Amino acid sequence: RRAVFAQLRNEAPVTRDGHRVTVMVNAGLRDDVAALDLTGADGIGLFRTEFQFLVSATLPQREEQRRLYRDVLEAAGDRPVIFRTVDIGGDKALPYLHHDAEGEEENPAMGWRALRLALDRDGLMKAQARALIEAGAGRTLNVMFPMVSEPWEFDEARALFEAQRAWLAARGRKLPNVIRYGAMLEVPALAEVLDQLLPRLDFLSIGTNDLTQFLFAADRAHPKLALRYDWLSPAILRFLRRVSEQARAAEVPVAVCGEMGGRPLEALALIGLGIDRLSITPAAVGPIKAMLRSLDRGAAMAAVQGMLDRPERSVRTMLGEWAEAQG
Ligand code: PEP
Ligand code: MG
Repeated sequence: RRAVFAQLRNEAPVTRDGHRVTVMVNAGLRDDVAALDLTGADGIGLFRTEFQFLVSATLPQREEQRRLYRDVLEAAGDRPVIFRTVDIGGDKALPYLHHDAEGEEENPAMGWRALRLALDRDGLMKAQARALIEAGAGRTLNVMFPMVSEPWEFDEARALFEAQRAWLAARGRKLPNVIRYGAMLEVPALAEVLDQLLPRLDFLSIGTNDLTQFLFAADRAHPKLALRYDWLSPAILRFLRRVSEQARAAEVPVAVCGEMGGRPLEALALIGLGIDRLSITPAAVGPIKAMLRSLDRGAAMAAVQGMLDRPERSVRTMLGEWAEAQG
C-alpha cells in the first residue's frame, strides 16, 4: 500500500467528477518541509511556528526565527506556506515564558495561550512579525492567528503586523509582495460573530482539534473521552456546514487544518459539506488522495446532507455504508 500511495505523489487530488481539491500538509520543523516533495502536497496549510520555541531552551531570537521561515519558504518554492503565529501556553507552556509568578492554570487549554498571550506579550509578537515579514521579502506571506475569539483580536494582531511592515518600509527594506491575513476558527464563540470578521479576512482555517474539545467541553487529550465524541457527530458537521457556507458566501477561502481532515471517512464528510481545502498530517496525504480520486463529489454532497437530519442512526455508520456501496 505504501508503494501505491507513493505513486500518488504525482497525481492531483481530483474527484471522479472532476473537482480539484486542495491538499496541503501540517508542519512545524525545518525538516518537515521535505514532506512537500514526498507527498506532492499543494503547500503547507499550517506551519506551527511554536515548535521552534518548544524545542529551544531559551526564547528563539528574531534572527533565528527569520532564518527558519526563510528556509521553509525557499524549500516550498512556489507552493504556499501558511505561518501560524505562536500557539504557546496551554499544554505547550514554556519555562522561559511561564513563570511561577504567573500561576498554575487550572484549565490551560482555555487559558492564557496563543493570540491571547501574544497580544499581551507584544514584544514577542513584534519580533515574530518582523522575522516573518523579512523572511517573506519578495514573496506572498500568509499569516494566520490562532485562537481568535473575537474580531478585535484579529484586528489588533493584523495592526501589529502592519506596523512592523510600515517600520521596515520606512527604512527602505525589501518587503513581501503581499501579506495575506487569516484566522483560525477553533473557539466556537467566533462562529457567532463570523459575519463581522469575514470581510477582514483573506482566508479562514478551521482547527477541528480545539474546536471539537470546546464544542463538546471535552479535553482533547483525555483518554477516557477519546472515543466518546465523534468527529462525525451531527453537532460538529452542522457547525462546519454553517461556517463553511458563511465563508463561501463571503468569498473567503475556508480550509480544515485539524487532524479530522487526515482520516478518509472524515475527509469524505468534509467534502460532502463543500469544504475542499484540507491541511493534514503528511502521512495521510496518500490515503486521502486515493479516497478523493475514487469519490463522486456531487453524490457525496447529496449523501452527507441527508445524513445530518437522521438522529436515529450514527453518521459514521451511514457514511461507512455509503462509502462501501460506492466501492
Ligand atoms: C487545531 O486546534 O485543530 C489545530 C490545527 O491546531 P493545534 O492542533 O496545533 O492546536
Ligand atoms: Mg488549535
